[in-house]
Amino acid sequence: MSWRIAMMCGVCGALIFLLCGFNASVRPVMVEGRRCVNLADAAKANGWKLEYAPDGRSVTVSGVRFAVRLIHDSAAAYWSDVRLALLGKAVRLPDGNWVVGKEDLQRTLKPVLAPAPLPPTPVRRVVIDAGHGGHDPGAVRSGVLEKSVNMSLAERLVPLLEKQGLKVVLTRSGDQFVPLEERADRVRLENGDIFLSIHQNAAENPDASGTEIFFAPGSRFEAASMHLAMAIQFSIMKCSGGLQTPQDRGIKRAGFRVIRQADCPAVLLECGFLSNTEDRMKLMKEEYLNTFAEAVAIGILCYRSLLSPREEQGGNNTPEERVNHDAN
Ligand SMILES: [Zn+2]
Repeated sequence: MSWRIAMMCGVCGALIFLLCGFNASVRPVMVEGRRCVNLADAAKANGWKLEYAPDGRSVTVSGVRFAVRLIHDSAAAYWSDVRLALLGKAVRLPDGNWVVGKEDLQRTLKPVLAPAPLPPTPVRRVVIDAGHGGHDPGAVRSGVLEKSVNMSLAERLVPLLEKQGLKVVLTRSGDQFVPLEERADRVRLENGDIFLSIHQNAAENPDASGTEIFFAPGSRFEAASMHLAMAIQFSIMKCSGGLQTPQDRGIKRAGFRVIRQADCPAVLLECGFLSNTEDRMKLMKEEYLNTFAEAVAIGILCYRSLLSPREEQGGNNTPEERVNHDAN
């Protein structure tokens, strides 16, 4: 998997770059009853650059390393071409000014474009939660059980992460039922530094397909969880390249109990739709599961490199350099 990891090095280098936010105030604007801010004001206050698309449909907001593209009248933004769901729509007003929700300025744009230093907790222990189990199969389509696909991916992640010096804890070791609160509680019991819950989607619409990742709003780990979600989703979209990259359904907020209650940065990954024939066929293939698990592992390693000083990881090389060395 060395080529994929090599490709990620530049990304990790960018992710590692941390910058303190600015505190300049930005004038509030009310738009359709929503508290918004003028994007030009926000950009000026934070030292961001704005680049408007000639057709007026989008604007790219650039920080020092990262950029986010906002789309007129849409709550979908794009970070490095990966979809990032906003809390509200970005809007281009009739006078040509752009506005974005005040909440999105504070909770999405600032953490992404000018991320404040995250808590310097080294990532050593990862709690992986294979969703469902026992009498709860999760989604079932054409004889494929969600609980089995979840476990299959979780088991693949264990050696990939352990090889990189991480301790991995599974919330279930086999096909048994584990209540949601017990799953989240493993973080506390095992001193987990990251919680990843693995699921497969299903929908009435058979055309719905792709990968989406959720983090819980409102928790003290919201910003860190968003960065974890970004690192994993980006890695899946860029590293599963040659092998049928799934559709990018984006990085989203949702108050799922299992990630809300986990006492650390936590994300819930919906890998694909069992209700979609193409997704389901891919998720039944060993090769696809291997590649998908590798992409998730690389995302976790990138997140680790965000938080951990090099010496914490036991060497002078970056984790990616060491992975490359291992792979060669
Ligand atoms: Zn599920």
